[in-house]
Amino acid sequence: MLDYIVKSTVYDGMVRAYAASTTYTIEEARKRQDTWATATAALGRTLTITGLMGAMLKGEDTLTVKVEGNGPLGAIIADGNAKGNVRGYVIQPHVDFPLNEQGKLDVRRAVGEEGTLSIVKDLGLKEYFTGQVPIVSGEISEDFTYYFANSEQIPSAVGAGVLVNPDHSVLAAGGFIIQLLPGADEEIVTKLEKQVETFPQISTLIREGNHPEQILQKLFGEEPVHIHERLPIHFQCKCSKERIENAIKGLGKEEIKEMIEQDHGAEATCHFCNEVYHLTETELESLLKDLS
Ligand code: ZN
Repeated sequence: MLDYIVKSTVYDGMVRAYAASTTYTIEEARKRQDTWATATAALGRTLTITGLMGAMLKGEDTLTVKVEGNGPLGAIIADGNAKGNVRGYVIQPHVDFPLNEQGKLDVRRAVGEEGTLSIVKDLGLKEYFTGQVPIVSGEISEDFTYYFANSEQIPSAVGAGVLVNPDHSVLAAGGFIIQLLPGADEEIVTKLEKQVETFPQISTLIREGNHPEQILQKLFGEEPVHIHERLPIHFQCKCSKERIENAIKGLGKEEIKEMIEQDHGAEATCHFCNEVYHLTETELESLLKDLS
């Protein structure tokens, strides 16, 4: 079954709970970016949470996430939208460390323990929401939990995990975001805090074959979970030859002339999906014509 996000509410609508399976999405990102295991986990957790946050948007809204730590990854950049499309990359994909003391991929070491997590939401009509918080953990999920509490003032529990096979392909990936909505009373807060403490590892639940619906039910135990929507999620890039041509036009006539005379063509690679675009001399000449 392909990846999808489940949107639900719990506790009579006082709590919003989203869960996602993202194994195929993260494997696609890994193949495109050639990430090594620890980098795959860091990118995968970020992409999963970006996908879940995208699912909270409406219509044509989009969001961009930047995790800029002082670790060897450099930075993680991801974006997503309300339609379940995500894409993203890390500056240095060839990062891999031995497992940490808990036997898990050492994401903190790859990301770094200092830096910033910033989010920009493009809400259309030139309306932007931006939030930035310091990195508090480097494990990604905790950093987003901190972001929601401090930048959006929404008490949240965030979890995302990626398990990698010995051949570096993705074995299991997924995540959840649980948020207290306005009006939630103290009793619910206490119950939820207890449940969050005993949550099983999300990546283990996915590996065991649980669907997002089953994950939500496991997280909340006896409590009824009201499912509102299922949204497919996949790795999808917005790049196209036309966009690349426009970017080249932006470089100006002189630059394009040089490409024609010296290189007899041009090649450009999309950071997000690693697609390579080739432009022939003739194509560059027609760009020049457009500019004159
Ligand atoms: Zn692309």
